[in-house]
Amino acid sequence: MSSKVTPIPDFIRAIAAVIGDNAEEVTALDQAIGDGDHVINVQRGIDVLLAQEEELCQLDWTPAFQKIGMSLMSNVGGASGSLYGTLFISLGKAVGGRSMNLATFADAFTQAVEAVKMRGKADVGEKTMLDVLIPVAQCLQQAAAQSLPLEQVLQNAQKVAEAGVESTRDMLATKGRASFLGERARGHLDAGAKTSQLMIQAIADVLAAKRA
Ligand code: ADP
Ligand code: MG
Repeated sequence: MSSKVTPIPDFIRAIAAVIGDNAEEVTALDQAIGDGDHVINVQRGIDVLLAQEEELCQLDWTPAFQKIGMSLMSNVGGASGSLYGTLFISLGKAVGGRSMNLATFADAFTQAVEAVKMRGKADVGEKTMLDVLIPVAQCLQQAAAQSLPLEQVLQNAQKVAEAGVESTRDMLATKGRASFLGERARGHLDAGAKTSQLMIQAIADVLAAKRA
């Protein structure tokens, strides 16, 4: 196999593993307050990306993120397909060919999360993936401003992502399918918040292992 330009293929494999390990739990979450297809949607996207590994290996950050986003957008159904698709297309656009470092990533990720907010017309506190993505974007920006060491950044981002998922438990849903349930949505974690947290965990674990 050819050498990799970025660790993105490693991230995709790690994400595939963690989503597989947690598939039942996440399916149960989407069954409780949605239609139960969230993991199937996410896994369809991951399978497409795994099949594109050879091609993704050749690409730098900007085109790789854009290709991932387009693949998700065109192959994954559900609200999450277009939202995760938007996240990655926007991430590629926002990186814009800059060299990758914490400051670049924090800035680009923040812009990408803004694009997801616009696409879904949602914000923090509505029991969606944004309850993980928004605080993680803020955490990365703070870390970049303080020039924190990478290990600390990864730990902070994982903690913030976990707190973000947990924050959805007692929320009412005001966007997506769960919004039809009113008060009955309370007491359940949001499935998209959970998959976002799992993906962040997987990426952080890969980066931490590379440092060790
Ligand atoms: P669908 O809801 O169409 O069945 P999925 O089950 O794949 O699609 O994804 C559901 C997840 O998408 C939810 O758990 C939530 O995190 C996220 N979601 C739904 N609507 C929105 C929105 N408007 N903004 C942000 N995230 C949303
Ligand atoms: Mg669903």
